[in-house]
Amino acid sequence: MTATTNLTHAECAERARTIAVGEQRVELDLRSATDPTARTFRVVSTIAFTATGEETWVDLIADQVVKVTLNGAPVDLSYDGARVPLTGLARDNEVRIEADCVYSRSGEGLHRFTDPQDGNTYLYTHFEPTDARRLYPVFEQPDLKAEVTFVVTAPAEWVILSGQPEVERTQERDAATVTFAPTPPLSSYITAVAAGPYHRVDGTWSTERADGTSQEIALGVLCRASMVDYLDADEVLRLTRQGLDFFDEHFNYPYPWGKYDQIFVPEYNIGAMENPGLVTFTEQYLHRGRTTRAQRQGLANTLMHEMAHMWFGDLVTMRWWDGLWLKESFADLMGYHVTAEATEYTDTWTRFAMDRKQFAYRQDQLPTTHPIVAVIDDMEAARQNFDGITYAKGAATLKQLMAYVGRSAFFAGSRDYFGRHAFGNTEVSDLMECLEAASGRDLTSWSRVWLETAGISELTPVVERAEDGTLTSLLIRQRASDPLASDARGEGPAAGAFIDRPHRLVVGCYALEGDRLSRVAAHEIDVTGQQTQVPQAAGEHADLVLINDDDLTYATVRLDPVSTETALAHVSSIESPLSRGVVWSSLWNSVRDSELPVDRYVRGALQQLPDEADAALLASGLTNLHSAIESFAPVARRSDWRGEQVAMLRDALWAAEADSDRQAVLARALVRATASTAEGVEVVGGLLDGTSVPDGLVVDQDLRWGAVAALAAQDAVSDDALAAELAADDTMTGRTAHLRATAARPSASAKAAAWEAMVADESLTNDHLRALVAGFTEPSGGPATQSYADDYYASISNWWQQRSMVMASILVTGLFPRGDLVAGNQPDEAPSLLAAQTWLEQHPEAPKALRRIVIEQTDHLRRALRVQASAG
Ligand SMILES: [Zn+2]
Repeated sequence: MTATTNLTHAECAERARTIAVGEQRVELDLRSATDPTARTFRVVSTIAFTATGEETWVDLIADQVVKVTLNGAPVDLSYDGARVPLTGLARDNEVRIEADCVYSRSGEGLHRFTDPQDGNTYLYTHFEPTDARRLYPVFEQPDLKAEVTFVVTAPAEWVILSGQPEVERTQERDAATVTFAPTPPLSSYITAVAAGPYHRVDGTWSTERADGTSQEIALGVLCRASMVDYLDADEVLRLTRQGLDFFDEHFNYPYPWGKYDQIFVPEYNIGAMENPGLVTFTEQYLHRGRTTRAQRQGLANTLMHEMAHMWFGDLVTMRWWDGLWLKESFADLMGYHVTAEATEYTDTWTRFAMDRKQFAYRQDQLPTTHPIVAVIDDMEAARQNFDGITYAKGAATLKQLMAYVGRSAFFAGSRDYFGRHAFGNTEVSDLMECLEAASGRDLTSWSRVWLETAGISELTPVVERAEDGTLTSLLIRQRASDPLASDARGEGPAAGAFIDRPHRLVVGCYALEGDRLSRVAAHEIDVTGQQTQVPQAAGEHADLVLINDDDLTYATVRLDPVSTETALAHVSSIESPLSRGVVWSSLWNSVRDSELPVDRYVRGALQQLPDEADAALLASGLTNLHSAIESFAPVARRSDWRGEQVAMLRDALWAAEADSDRQAVLARALVRATASTAEGVEVVGGLLDGTSVPDGLVVDQDLRWGAVAALAAQDAVSDDALAAELAADDTMTGRTAHLRATAARPSASAKAAAWEAMVADESLTNDHLRALVAGFTEPSGGPATQSYADDYYASISNWWQQRSMVMASILVTGLFPRGDLVAGNQPDEAPSLLAAQTWLEQHPEAPKALRRIVIEQTDHLRRALRVQASAG
C-alpha cells in the first residue's frame, strides 16, 4: 500500500466541502477477461464536477494511468498508485482519465474467476468500502454521490449487468457494448458491474397500492452455469416478493432503483452486498448437499438485510464511515424482523438470540470495542469496523429501541427519515430527530448510554427462595461501565462510573413439572439503575428465573445458582426455542467469563443437546460444545471429552430421524469433532466408504470433503485417496476442499508446504488462502501455529504492507499463534501470550488496523487461558 491509499476523514470532509460531483461516465473494455494471460483491462472515465478550490484529487488504484485531461487540456502525470492529483480547477470541470486496471483475485475490485469445471470466466465487483477505485477513477467517499453511466464492452454471448437497466446495445464482431441507464445520485461503494455466461432466472414483482399508484419491478436471479442445480430460484423470487411487499408497505417510499437483480458469485469475501439493483451474494448460500431449514433461513435473512439497504444505506447514506452503523444496525435488525414477519421463517429471532448476538458479546468484551457510534479517522479503521458492534450490537440495540418506543413509532420515524433525506447523506442525529418526532420521546439520554458508550450491561438476579422453592424476593442487579472511559475521549463517562442503561425486558419464571420446565409467569418490566425489584415474582414457584426471556434487550444475563443447576439438567424441555436460545446463550457467556466452570457446561451440553428438538439450536449448541472442549477445557481433560463428544454424536446420529435436518447437523458435527480425535476415525471412515451409514443420511460431496479433511487431520487418509476424491469432484469447491485437506495433514512436511504456499504464493485466491489457513490450523487448536510463531511475528508487518487488506487479514488472523495452558503455569505466563504482548510492545508504530487484529487475537487467547486455568 502506498501512503496515499489510506483516505482520512479530514481530507475527505475537506474534499466534500470544495467539490460537488455531477454526471460520471465509466467505459469498461472487458474483452480481455477470457484471456488468462491478460492482467488488465482498459477503463475510460469522465467526471463532471464543480469546485470552489484550486485543487483536488481523483482516487484510482490502477496498473497504469494512460492519459489524463482536465477541461480538455492534458495533465502532467504524477500518479502515486492511489491518487491522480488535479490542480488549476475551474468552477465547472470535466476530467477524463484513461487507465489500465487489474483483474482481482482477492475479491476486492473487479474479481475474475475461471470455472475449472467448464472453463467459463465470470466477473463481478465488490467495492465496500473503497475499492471502486480499483475499477474506475472516482471520488471515493460516500458523500460525493454521482450519477453514473456505465458502458461495458464484453463478449457478446455474456450476460452483462450493472445496477441500472440496459438502455442500449451495439455489437461489433464478438463483442457487445452495453450502455446502462444513469444511476440516481449514488455513492461509489454501491456501484456494481457483473459479466459472464451467468445463468439467469427472471421474475417480476408488482403492487397496486391503496392510493391508486402501482409499480412493477423486473427481478433476476443469477449464478454461474455449473451451480444451476443448487440454485432454488423459486425460493429466492418468493422471498424477494415477500420482502418488497413488506418494505413497500412499511417504508412508504417506492423502491427507487428500477430493477432488482440478485447474483450469487464465487470467491466472495462477505455474505452479500447491497448494490442497488444488483445485489451480490456469496455462492456459499448455494448448497451442493442437503440444505437445512436453518440454511434457507440464513439466506432469507441476508436477502432481507440487503433489501432493507435499498432504502437504508443506498437511498439515504451515511456521510462518512463513522455512520456505518446507521445502515448496518438497521439492515441487520430488518433482516430478522422482516424474515420473522413476512416469510415462513417466523422463528428467526431464536437465531438472533443464540448466534447473532454472540458476535456482539464477543466483540464488546475485547479491548478494541467501541461505542456503536464510533470515531473513524480513516479508511483502514473503517474496514475494521465491519464488526460485531456495528452489525449485531447495533441491531440488538435498535431492537431494544423498538421495544422502548414501540413498533409503530419506529416505522413512522423511518418513513419520515426516507422522506426527508432521500438521495442525501445523514448523520446519527438526523435519524434520532425523526424517531423522536414519531415517538414523542426525548431520546437524548437513551442515545447517550446505548449508542455513545461501549461495553455490555451485566444483569444478575438476586433470588431468595422459601424452603419449598417459592420465590420470596427477586431483584435484578445491573452492572455497567464503559471500558473505554479512562481513554482520553474527553466528554465520556469517568472510569468505572455506572452507566444507567434502561432495559425493557421480560422476566420468565419456570417450574419443573415432572421432567419438563414450564413457564409459569412472564413479567414485562423496565430495568433501570443498579437495582430493580421485581415484586410481581414473589410467591411464584420458579426452578429457573430467566431475565431477558424473549430476548428484548442487549445484556449478558446471569442465572442464579439454582437456575443454573436447573438449566444444565433440563433446558431442552423448555417449550419455546427462543427461551432455550436465551438460556443456552446465558450459559455460554458464563463459561466465557469464567463464571460457570467449563466442566459443568460440557457435562450439561453432552447430556442436554441430544434432546434439543430444534435443528438450528442443536447446530449452534454443538458448535459451542466443540469450542468449549477445544479452546476452554484444560488440556488434560480434552482427550476424554473429545471421546465422549464423538460417542454422543454417533449415538444421536444413529437415533435421528431418517433424512432430517437433525441427521445432517449431527453428521456434520461428528465429522468436525473427528478432526481432533482418533476416536471418530472409524465411524467417519464408515460414512465415507459407505460401509456404515445411518438410514436416510445422504453422504453428499460436501459432507465427504468434511470427512476427508477430518481424516487427513488424523493422518488417516492416503495421498491416493485424497487425489481420488479430487478426481471425483474436480470443481472449484472440490479444489478448494482438496487444498484444505492437504494442509490438514499433521506431518511437519505437510505443514511446511502449506506455510510456504500461504506466505509466498501471491497467486492464491482469497478462498484458496482461507482453505490453506483452515487446513494448516487443524487439528483443532492449531498446534502448527505454535511451531511457526517466530516466523509469524517476523512476517506480519510485511504481509500487511505487501498484501491487500483482505488477504493480509486472512493471514494475520488465521495464523495467530495459539497455545494452551501448561499445567502449573499461570495464564499470564503462557509463552504464546508473552510472545504476542512482546510484539505489541515492540511495534507501537505498526498500522492501527494490524495492531487491532493482534490485540483482539491476544485477548481471545488470554480469555481461553483464563478459563482453562479456572477449570483447575
Ligand atoms: Zn449490510
